[in-house]
Amino acid sequence: MKELKRAVLEKGIVVGDDILKVDMFLNHRIDTGLALAMGNYIADYFREKSPNIIFTIEASGIAIAITTAIALENIPVVFAKKTAASNQGADRLYANVHSFTKNKDYLVSVERDYLPSGSCVLIVDDFLANGEAMRGLIKITEYANCKLCGAAVAIEKAFQSGGRELRSQGVDLLSLCKIKSIGNDEIILED
Ligand code: 5GP
Repeated sequence: MKELKRAVLEKGIVVGDDILKVDMFLNHRIDTGLALAMGNYIADYFREKSPNIIFTIEASGIAIAITTAIALENIPVVFAKKTAASNQGADRLYANVHSFTKNKDYLVSVERDYLPSGSCVLIVDDFLANGEAMRGLIKITEYANCKLCGAAVAIEKAFQSGGRELRSQGVDLLSLCKIKSIGNDEIILED
C-alpha cells in the first residue's frame, strides 16, 4: 500500500538489526488519515469473504482494526487482553504469546461470549515478525469455534518467519507493507 510504504520509509526508525520503530504514525502517535486508508484497503481485500468480527490484540492493532471494521459496515472489534483484571468475566479463552519486542511470554485472553461460535473472523494487527501474536489469535479463534476468514497486518517483516509459515498453513494473509531487510539505518522494502 503506497501511503504506508511512504510513511515507513520517511518516518520509520531502525532500532538494532531487526526492530522498526513506527511510533510517529502507528504505535504511539497515530496518523488517523493513514489508519483510515489502511482500514479501507484491508476491508476491500476481504469484503467478499463477509467477515463479521475483527479480532486483534491490544494495543497497537486496535486503531486499524476499528477503521477496517467501520469500512466493513460497522462490524464489531474484539481485542485480546494482555493482563487480567477483576472485572473480567471468568469464561475466557487463553493463548500463550511470546513477545518479540519485550522478549517475554504473556497469556492473552478473550471472554468467550465476545467471539460467538460460527463467526467469520478477520484478524488484524500492526506487525508480523515471527508470527507469535498471530498464532495466539488464531488459536483463540479456533477455541471459540469460529472460522478464520483471513488475516491482515500493516507491516510484515519478511525476513522473519511468521508470514511464510502462516501462508504455508493456508492462511489468507494480507500485508500492506513488506520489509525485506533493515539494518545500518536502512529500510529495504519488497516489490
Ligand atoms: P510476532 O508475534 O509476529 O513475532 O511479532 C509481532 C508483534 O510484536 C506485533 O504485535 C508487534 O507489537 C511486535 N513487533 C514485532 N516486531 C516489531 C517491530 O519491528 N516494530 C514494532 N514496533 N513492533 C514489533
